[in-house]
Amino acid sequence: MRTPAELTTAFRSLGLKVTPQRQLLFRLLHDNTTHPTAEALFEVASAQMPGISLRTVYQTLTDLAGMGELQSIAFGGGAIRFDPNVGQHHHQVCVSCDEITDVYVDGVDQLNVSLRNEPDAHSFATASTDIVFRGRCVRCADTV
Ligand SMILES: [Zn+2]
Ligand SMILES: [Zn+2]
Repeated sequence: MRTPAELTTAFRSLGLKVTPQRQLLFRLLHDNTTHPTAEALFEVASAQMPGISLRTVYQTLTDLAGMGELQSIAFGGGAIRFDPNVGQHHHQVCVSCDEITDVYVDGVDQLNVSLRNEPDAHSFATASTDIVFRGRCVRCADTV
């Protein structure tokens, strides 16, 4: 995701309004590694700018995702999370506290994939690969 200043320029050039509320969201999302849900972002934004609406948060997230500045990720069952890191990466998910951490994986292209009944079938053109490691983060592992 680009910087708040660059996003302000980009939004304006698309004819989108840039309000103080939206600029706050740009700042809160830039370099954000927590993979927030819309609701989590709304909570943080409300603390800094009371009166901001959940609708504004949703609309801004939708606009940013549409511009390719954010990716939205559904980690099976949970609410959709937003990630300003749009480069190639994967995730570690703590099953205890829901913390999501960016991780980088070597050798994804060399993975040996086969179908259950046709181990030699290679008729699938993979466009992207998302790997999720589930387990416990350091803090949660310590409290078991
Ligand atoms: Zn944890
Ligand atoms: Zn991520």
